[in-house]
Amino acid sequence: MTTDDPTTDEPTTDERCESCGMPLTHAGRYCENCAPGGVLQSFEERFERMTQWVIRSEGLDRDTAQARTREHMRTMPAWRGHPGLG
Ligand SMILES: [Zn+2]
Repeated sequence: MTTDDPTTDEPTTDERCESCGMPLTHAGRYCENCAPGGVLQSFEERFERMTQWVIRSEGLDRDTAQARTREHMRTMPAWRGHPGLG
């Protein structure tokens, strides 16, 4: 009976939003942007918002921003395999 196991689990405090990947500041699966009031927004809503955000933050044109958003969302547990990501 060893209590000093060297592979002790570190507390997983680096939880991330399953929709956009942002670090979470509260317990849960999604951030406040993706799920205001705890309810996850629709794919269309999220896709549009994220595209707008990419356009603003990276200065990309709409087509490029959409492609970038699609790529990002494909890696997110909330949207992985979504038909809208084709
Ligand atoms: Zn989010």
